[in-house]
Amino acid sequence: MTIYRGHLVHIAGAPSLPRSRDHLVSEPDGALVVDAAGRVAYAGSWADVPAAFARDTVIRTGGCLLPGFVDTHLHFPQTFTTDAFGGGQLLEWLEHCVFPAESRLSDAAYADVVARAFVRRRVAVGTTAALVFGSAFPAAQDALFGRTLEAGLRIVSGRGIQTVGSPSAAALLTGEDEAIALTRDEIDRWHGVEASGRAVEARRALAQVAVVPRFSLSVTTETLRRLGDLYGEVRAEGVYFHSHLNENDRPDDGEIAAVRDVFGVRDYLDTYDGLFLTGSQRGGETLLGRRSILAHAVHTHDRELGRLAETGSSIAHCPTSQQFLGSGTMPWRRTVRSGVTIAMGSDIGAGDEWLIPRVLNDAFKVHMSEEGLLATAIDPAQLLFLGTLAGARALDQEDVFGNFDVGKEADFVIVDPTRQDGFAETLSFAAEQGPEAHLFTLLMGMREASVAAVHVRGRRVAGPE
Ligand SMILES: [Zn+2]
Repeated sequence: MTIYRGHLVHIAGAPSLPRSRDHLVSEPDGALVVDAAGRVAYAGSWADVPAAFARDTVIRTGGCLLPGFVDTHLHFPQTFTTDAFGGGQLLEWLEHCVFPAESRLSDAAYADVVARAFVRRRVAVGTTAALVFGSAFPAAQDALFGRTLEAGLRIVSGRGIQTVGSPSAAALLTGEDEAIALTRDEIDRWHGVEASGRAVEARRALAQVAVVPRFSLSVTTETLRRLGDLYGEVRAEGVYFHSHLNENDRPDDGEIAAVRDVFGVRDYLDTYDGLFLTGSQRGGETLLGRRSILAHAVHTHDRELGRLAETGSSIAHCPTSQQFLGSGTMPWRRTVRSGVTIAMGSDIGAGDEWLIPRVLNDAFKVHMSEEGLLATAIDPAQLLFLGTLAGARALDQEDVFGNFDVGKEADFVIVDPTRQDGFAETLSFAAEQGPEAHLFTLLMGMREASVAAVHVRGRRVAGPE
């Protein structure tokens, strides 16, 4: 057993987003007891640590103990393309910045450089679990999975599937047969893999695989039909589905207009729901379900939100990226009301911030700035929920990690506010006003520098050289 002593903060139990406030635990003199298997044995006040643990190793952190952050949408091959100038919105940025940058990962040695950098960035910001949009190239994906497992982080990822595209995306395209074969091969090789060969269920393993078409515009109806068949076969093993949805609505030539134009569907979501033929006729099996996560959902109709909720699918909300590409923002109240699970995504590289609390800071500001009566002040417990437990729920692994409930695997971040100029004083002033004020200042104010240590399954993780 190891006891970590510090200001312990988490959302206990399994509340809905609106109820998370009632589940906020904040123990200024708290303790997290981690057993030899890396599980939470106790989380609460230091004074109440059971006597049985009293003589175990105590680590005085001098800071805050938070559950590890969960990033449900970021792009591995865009590690070096944050803040790339595309001269326009989504489609221009893809064309001018992203497709050329992602093509460079065809060089396996370069891909390994990117994979190491990607893992280092994740460790630096305490993102213990992530749903990672992958590279088109199998060797690059091998580097990503291999480096992530070496470090000991959790990952769900899949190669980005593209079967149609402009000349600038040429290197990223494959034929229909190859798209399916490469995806199937990646599932065989990486779904349910552990670094140590330790036996766990595939659905709980550190490395798991997703089926990831870039977006509807990068695939054909033939690809969608065959991905539906494939997903039907592997869904029961816990394989994920991940893509983008309703991001850019510029009239006439934006993403959503193009999807309607190309497929002739009512709504964008229909293309992922097996209804991708003209007039939203059924052409194949649905890709939606409990392990399906769609990024953005900025311009989504109530019918689509209802369908996401009823299938148990989730939304990766990416406010930083949405500001960068001028996409607008996910309508907060309407999306919450639909009952769909909402988690956070940095969307690196359209998002230029890796630290999930900085993405939460953007979420707070954009929803506070929604028009008129739609303006919402998201409370601090909801912010913490979004960056931790909601991510675990979106990944369908809420029984494994996401908070400090006894028996869960101990994924946590130690935040040391003295590592950030002036922050310790600001935080202790906030703490005098109570737990919610402390949490709000902690999440809104913390920067990467204050992430002092990162643990997955109780084991301290370190990035590669
Ligand atoms: Zn994205």
